[in-house]
Amino acid sequence: MKIIDLKARTVAIPMSCQLRHNTGVHPGYLMRTVLELVTDEGIVGLGEVGGGDQRGALAKLKPRIVGCDPFHLEDIKLRVLRSIYYLSNARLYAAIEIACLDIQGKVLNRPMSDLIGGSVRSAVPMIAYLFWRYDRPEGGDDEHPEDIAAHAVQLAEELGVRAMKLKAGVMDPMLEARAIELCREALGPDFGLRIDPNGVWSVATAVRVGRRLEAIGMEYFEDPAWGLEGNAAVRSQVRCPIATNMYPNRFDDLGPAVRMGAVDIVLTDLHYWEGPRGVKDLCAVCRTFGLGVAMHSGAEFGIELAAMIHTASTIPEMSFSGDAHYHYLTDDIIVGGKLAYQDGAIAVPAGPGLGVVLDEDKMAFYERYYEQHGDYYARFHQDPRRPEWVPVVGGV
Ligand code: MG
Repeated sequence: MKIIDLKARTVAIPMSCQLRHNTGVHPGYLMRTVLELVTDEGIVGLGEVGGGDQRGALAKLKPRIVGCDPFHLEDIKLRVLRSIYYLSNARLYAAIEIACLDIQGKVLNRPMSDLIGGSVRSAVPMIAYLFWRYDRPEGGDDEHPEDIAAHAVQLAEELGVRAMKLKAGVMDPMLEARAIELCREALGPDFGLRIDPNGVWSVATAVRVGRRLEAIGMEYFEDPAWGLEGNAAVRSQVRCPIATNMYPNRFDDLGPAVRMGAVDIVLTDLHYWEGPRGVKDLCAVCRTFGLGVAMHSGAEFGIELAAMIHTASTIPEMSFSGDAHYHYLTDDIIVGGKLAYQDGAIAVPAGPGLGVVLDEDKMAFYERYYEQHGDYYARFHQDPRRPEWVPVVGGV
């Protein structure tokens, strides 16, 4: 079997609101590039990648993989992982690996999870991912800690989730800490709580927030300060597990992170860690060094989310609920619409490969939506309410 074509389309789907983070705003829609690998036997594998419009980058890789066998992933990885020297195509390779695993599953008539060890759970628990929102469905913006707690209660009721995470680094750090305290009061002692300022706080601020929140027993404190050094410094002063999807987010930095004592829990990510098989490699290292594993969200649509669910279902030690921006999306590009939450979890899709099928009408509709609204990654996630503002790491 040979790959004979690679097709890529960029699509954007509206969200129910705008989501703020410490470098700006997801401006009311999310965007992904959808990949299709076509084989000489007519089987099509689906992949997905974020980080802006990736059509041009994937087109550059096409000559490297046309003619390859989709079962020969090590060969394909060697061909595409490095552009030159240290410049990694991990994100793009992951999309290609997902598509190849989809092809393999369709050939073998087995779900993707069976190709990477097999499921140990039939559904993957997810969190309520909380952001400070502009233009909420009910009107207005999130401005107070009480708004965050109310939204957490609403999502716990709607989705059945048993954990939350606040994307922090947006408001005053003590207001954000207060939001977590209010969530504990509203949701009870067993509800999982997390906060993630994406490394923007100074070590001193992160320690102040972490110590304040020790009393309420968070599941973890994610990327409290900048870099391996920052997280290690916070970890040495706060009695709360430190998690990361930033330091390390590649194999090169995993050894230093362990040696420096910078991390307790690593968030898996199919794109950072070189595809589903790379995530399994990461989990073996985490197991070896006694680190926990959780799951990061890259603001994915149904194709990648299906791959994430398949992968997470095969990781016995993944005891934390996974992240997802998914509940903010108003639609999806897969047949049947959005994957459903049931009792706070998303079931491993059935059927061969990923178990999801592209809805061509929706692909066409959301391609047009993207063309009308553009690549906000090219605009640096600029906040339209304060266009001249830029983030300062360690400035708070
Ligand atoms: Mg994070």
